[in-house]
Amino acid sequence: MKPTYLAVAIAMLVGSANSALAQGKLNVMTTTQDLASIAGEVGGDRIDVDSISRGYQDPHFVEAKPSFILKLQRAALLIVVGRELEIGWLPPLIQQSRNAKIQPGADGYLDASQHAKILDIPQGQVTRAMGDVHPLGNPHYWLDPDNGKLVARDIAARLAEIRPNDKAYFDQRLADFTRRVDEALKRWTGMMAPFKGTKVVTYHRSFPNFADRFGLDVIGYVEPRPGIPPSPSHTLELIQEMKRQQIKIIMMEPYFDSKTPDSIASQTGARVLVMPPSVGGEKTIPDYFKLFDYDVNLLVNALKQVGAAPTAQR
Ligand SMILES: [Zn+2]
Repeated sequence: MKPTYLAVAIAMLVGSANSALAQGKLNVMTTTQDLASIAGEVGGDRIDVDSISRGYQDPHFVEAKPSFILKLQRAALLIVVGRELEIGWLPPLIQQSRNAKIQPGADGYLDASQHAKILDIPQGQVTRAMGDVHPLGNPHYWLDPDNGKLVARDIAARLAEIRPNDKAYFDQRLADFTRRVDEALKRWTGMMAPFKGTKVVTYHRSFPNFADRFGLDVIGYVEPRPGIPPSPSHTLELIQEMKRQQIKIIMMEPYFDSKTPDSIASQTGARVLVMPPSVGGEKTIPDYFKLFDYDVNLLVNALKQVGAAPTAQR
């Protein structure tokens, strides 16, 4: 008799623990570590958050793994970058998860780009035959901290819709995150201010929002078009333009082959700067604040070394 009572008691305990857990933490998945970091800032201890891709991967081209489907099956909320950044790999994963909550249009699907400031929105008709992976404007918008705040606001609103009892908690976390971003942004823009107007080249078009915010002028790209590998004729034109405008910095995302940028650098005297565009792009970048700390420091040091201080020189 006693073992039976015990078993029932244990079953009841386990049952109540499970339901408490189910009520407790909301399972949130994001496509990138940047979004996971912002969601964690807002969701605090009321959510469990994980990202599908890692910051050292090219977010346009992520290799789909079965483990991603398992993660999506458990999610109550999926947050995506949007603007078709994930179109090459995410739709089949969502479909195969068979999780009705996170299908596009459902309450558990959040497109983080909705209220962000989006640059490079194409004029006229864009076709995939052009090879452009940015058909709905530039999807690397998280690289402006102001957009980070807007994304956080959307996440807080959606979390509060799913868990109305925690609305005050999410609102308070959002206000705190926003305040800390504003403070840090003053510091970052202050560090970049002496280099305002410096002309640079980037590999992929990952940095227009970053350049806009921190006063850089991107005059060319190693890729002829977003998602299209370098070609000899484009590289030659770029080298000529860089010589003409005396460009000293090439910003490269960590997941590209450095062969072409290195060759361009050797012919122009420019420096190749491996600049992570995402949280997780380096071991020392565990969160959204550290991303800008890292990139701004990297840039400022390089700009000092190449003597690029146009506002001081002119
Ligand atoms: Zn891109």
